[in-house]
Amino acid sequence: MPKPSRYIPYYDDIVAAMTAPGCAFCALQLRAAERFIDALLWESVNDPRIRREVAGARGFCNTHAWLLVRPGGALSSAIIYKDVVQAAARIVRDAPVARMSFWQRVQTWLGRHQPVADALVRALAPAHACPVCTNAAEIDAHLCATMLAAQAKSDDVLAHYRASSGLCLSHFRTLLSHAQQPAVRAAFIAVQLDIWATLEGELAEFIRKSDHQARGEKFGAERDAWERAIALTSGPQPAAKSQRGGITQSGQ
Ligand SMILES: [Zn+2]
Ligand SMILES: [Zn+2]
Repeated sequence: MPKPSRYIPYYDDIVAAMTAPGCAFCALQLRAAERFIDALLWESVNDPRIRREVAGARGFCNTHAWLLVRPGGALSSAIIYKDVVQAAARIVRDAPVARMSFWQRVQTWLGRHQPVADALVRALAPAHACPVCTNAAEIDAHLCATMLAAQAKSDDVLAHYRASSGLCLSHFRTLLSHAQQPAVRAAFIAVQLDIWATLEGELAEFIRKSDHQARGEKFGAERDAWERAIALTSGPQPAAKSQRGGITQSGQ
């Protein structure tokens, strides 16, 4: 799709993100997604080609759609999603009347109801991925290439990685899929295993201190280990939704 102006993270951005809690790639992806949505809302909302692309994707995916809810984003979101709703309604209105096959009629008569992906069900499916997800895949590839290029020059990147919270499982897999050279792959694996070992120890400590026998022992760094474990395997919490309702451009 024609792209709104984009955010491309550099090596320094990766290093900076590794000093903050959580997966560095997830943090940079959120920044890239927010910039993408910003550009869409402020620069590209009047571009019918982009609105057609979003409508073809049946809107953004759940994770990215809610990034639209931001101060001043209400009108652009309304314009974008009017096209999404119109496209879905048009597909349903234009669909030929579905007829049941003989076999389906027999199944229904027998009281067995199997879901059927008929022409209408298929037509309502997204014609392509969420545009922000497509952008995210390109950013992931760029982040991995940057990590690998940095590692080819020095082990500094491994030291930053080791001092970080580690990559989430999804981004660790992405990195491995790009790191085919055995020695490089082994170096990244060793770091991630160290990070998981520390986290596993903290989880064990949290579980131990949660037992009534450890009553009186104060929680330390392991206090939020369970939340960090969720983020490091299942991914970070989705961006918070606006509590404001997003009524107008000025946030009245
Ligand atoms: Zn991640
Ligand atoms: Zn998405």
